[in-house]
Amino acid sequence: MRVTVTLACTECKQRNYTSSKNKKNNPDRIEVKKYCKFCKAHKVHKETK
Ligand SMILES: [Zn+2]
Repeated sequence: MRVTVTLACTECKQRNYTSSKNKKNNPDRIEVKKYCKFCKAHKVHKETK
């Protein structure tokens, strides 16, 4: 049930990370606070298609 998702910075829209999630536990788009090297700061990253 694990799927690979891409995490994009909500500030600059760069796709910085890939992650995997359990679709059963997280049916909605996940949000993770991670370091964005383009913003040079920690920003919220959201799952994209
Ligand atoms: Zn950014």
